[in-house]
Amino acid sequence: MKLLENKTAIITGASRGIGMGIAKIFAAHGANVAFTYASSEAPALALEEELTQLGVKAKAYKSDASKFEQAEALVTAVVADFGTIDILINNAGVTKDNLLMRMSEEDFDAVMEINLKSVFNMTKATQRTFLKQRSGSIINMSSVVGVKGNAGQSNYAASKAGMIGFTKSIALELGSRNIRCNAIAPGFIETEMTEKLDEKTVQSWRDGIPLKRGGSPEDVANACVFLASDLSAYVTGQVLNVDGGMLT
Ligand code: NAP
Repeated sequence: MKLLENKTAIITGASRGIGMGIAKIFAAHGANVAFTYASSEAPALALEEELTQLGVKAKAYKSDASKFEQAEALVTAVVADFGTIDILINNAGVTKDNLLMRMSEEDFDAVMEINLKSVFNMTKATQRTFLKQRSGSIINMSSVVGVKGNAGQSNYAASKAGMIGFTKSIALELGSRNIRCNAIAPGFIETEMTEKLDEKTVQSWRDGIPLKRGGSPEDVANACVFLASDLSAYVTGQVLNVDGGMLT
């Protein structure tokens, strides 16, 4: 069953990793997909082609989610190209890990702007469209680190915890207009972001997870299908952990 037929989604940061996984599964479920990238043009264009082959409308946009004006321009372009927006997935994110003692002001600010301010930028830019059609589903890609904290990631954890506060506030603010807003807190998902880590560390993480494996982009994408589709019509303001039981 195709759960997202005739729906249009904007996904930020879909040129690789979790965002790319979401774009592919959404297209397989019949969604039209507008997605962004920061600099990976070749993989973004290849993804656009791959999604189009599945019979949906798909388009890649180079857009820096941390910049307010770029988010506004992006949403205007997507509405012109696709006619509507039903789903917003704020997925773009980065890490710049360090102990507080060694963390620079630039690295703190960059992570807050790319991970958290981007969510404000994109949600504000799409809200007009959602209000007009009296429906919408917003999904914010937080992290278990935003729920629990993590030594060496104070900037990242603060940005991801901030996303949860933002999510719950928007759910309260826009619920009466049938606009839902939820967050996903992925655990250890094996992507390029985690490839930087050494194999021994990675294996010890896998061993500590109740389901005994790292997650895949598809595991996160399937949770997004639920939150984006009408299956979750009565679910808003929630944080869904997709972590193999890590925080249990
Ligand atoms: P990734 O493989 O590093 O991919 C990041 C994506 O974000 C890329 O498409 C990148 O585009 C894009 N991006 C970066 N900065 C951007 C900006 N300023 N504007 C627009 N797009 C930007 O990361 P991932 O592992 O898939 O993670 C995706 C999301 O899940 C992030 O928010 C991350 O914090 C969260 N998450 C990941 C894990 C995990 O274990 N992997 C766990 C919990 C949460 P370019 O390719 O052009 O650079």
